[in-house]
Amino acid sequence: MYDLIIRNGTIVDGSGMPRFRGDVGIAQGKIAAIGKVRESARETIDADGHIVAPGLIDAHTHMDAQVFWDALGTCSCWHGVTSVVMGNCGFSLAPCGEKDKLLVMRNLERAEDISPQAMEAGIKWSWTTFAEYLDAVERQAKGINYAAYMGHSALRTYVMGQRAFEEPATTEDLQMMRDELGNAIRAGAIGFTTSRTSNHQTPDGRPVASRIANWDEVRSLVGVMGDLGAGIFEIAGEDTGAEGARLDDYLARLKALAVDTSVPVTYGMFSSRRAPDYWRNYFKLADETAAAGGRMFIQVHSRSLNILLSFETMMPFDRLPAWKEIRKLPLAEQEAALRNPETRRKLVEAARDRGQADRGIGAEARSANFKWIFPLLRPTPPHRSIAEIAEAEQKDPIDVMIDLALAKNLKQFFMQTLVNEDQDRVLEMMKHPRSVVTFSDSGAHVSQIMDSSLQTHVLSHWVREKQALTLEQAIRMMSFVPAYHWGLKGRGLLREGNFADVMVFDPEKITPKLPELAHDLPAGAKRLKQKSEGLLATVVNGEVLLRNNEHTGALPGKLLRGPLAAN
Ligand SMILES: [Zn+2]
Repeated sequence: MYDLIIRNGTIVDGSGMPRFRGDVGIAQGKIAAIGKVRESARETIDADGHIVAPGLIDAHTHMDAQVFWDALGTCSCWHGVTSVVMGNCGFSLAPCGEKDKLLVMRNLERAEDISPQAMEAGIKWSWTTFAEYLDAVERQAKGINYAAYMGHSALRTYVMGQRAFEEPATTEDLQMMRDELGNAIRAGAIGFTTSRTSNHQTPDGRPVASRIANWDEVRSLVGVMGDLGAGIFEIAGEDTGAEGARLDDYLARLKALAVDTSVPVTYGMFSSRRAPDYWRNYFKLADETAAAGGRMFIQVHSRSLNILLSFETMMPFDRLPAWKEIRKLPLAEQEAALRNPETRRKLVEAARDRGQADRGIGAEARSANFKWIFPLLRPTPPHRSIAEIAEAEQKDPIDVMIDLALAKNLKQFFMQTLVNEDQDRVLEMMKHPRSVVTFSDSGAHVSQIMDSSLQTHVLSHWVREKQALTLEQAIRMMSFVPAYHWGLKGRGLLREGNFADVMVFDPEKITPKLPELAHDLPAGAKRLKQKSEGLLATVVNGEVLLRNNEHTGALPGKLLRGPLAAN
């Protein structure tokens, strides 16, 4: 007698091996049988016509705060994801005592666009050390599984207070950081992360704390993991420019770090229209590092990286005085203003001689280049740019945007592409043997970016529409490969004895839905939400978490501790 049997599905087991028809029998949270299962079960899922695959793993999220108010793990859980890694880019909520929580939140607020009001209202602060934070996550009822890195900005702020934003660490500071990091890794932190990119600023325009650290500090901290023989190092990299001495210097430091410490080093990478082959330096570096005895793997996305613009969130013209006036109003009044020809004419004129808009950072709106703004009329490509539509309709691009927005009562989203414009390069990066397809940033940029759907984008766009990947390749990229790199034992493969994290989906229907705006964060803060179609069931640790993407009420998720802590 099994707890759950998924019958008559087509099994794509995550290894990359070819699919086969069969049943999956699940008992006590684990996969007990694969093949023809003759026994009965308390619960059965008929997966006829569906693919049965391992639950997907997203290793680049920022769910550190959200885990305390969103038990399910949205929006990732709506795209077949059953495990996530959080604490990326130097941002975590520990170590930090309650009295200093505002300092840590300051690191997160602008860099990752997480509302401090939501954090204040949604988190019952019950920790100081990272080990205590892990215990708090463990106690929390959860839909999916979470592993957590400790972030450098939090660690630095914990040890140095206000000085963390201003000064190099003293010998004593560094020793305290090393001690706390060691404790965190022993308690089950999956690794340590840092940010050195100018995209990560505080609300008052200053660097987040980790950016003040010199490279010796970084090396010393990563060395703690090397000495313990556990932990992964993730870095949001330095702004080196596309070529030259600064780039060479940075690459040499990264390689030496990986080789000298034996700690796996990972970072995200995009291609860019401004430097289309820049990313190749980093893939070459990963190859060279491996040859020299280190480990390095690269996190890549499955499509272009887009900010989502809309009148409900942000538009590229919001900083212009004429727009500022209107944009403060409730949405219905903005709509009325835009339907008034005189007001509209003023807004269009002001937007036309924009240029004074300042530079957005991170995922904030940039001034408009209409070649790289696309109305999001369907969830997957092809998309037509505003420039193309304006040309075809002989209209001003700003009028095109306003008309499209008005047609949906201002609820139309526009994608503003930042990087990864060339989809051939995106595919090439995804297929590189040293890359991992993961980078949703779920839990962060909550009103700016919605990439929790990057996994269903792979299944709908790259597998079904483009036939550029087989299902076997695609599933492997998003299950076994991340499980392997992050050392998530017993996950990422459908195998007898493994944890029963399973997604069951219709390969003809799986697709992201269009995103929408919701005001459902604590304190009513807003966020983008995106679901998907075609998912029949999502199973976590043997329990059905979602049926037809609706929550069953089960909360079977676990904290996934790193190798030095027993799970
Ligand atoms: Zn990040």
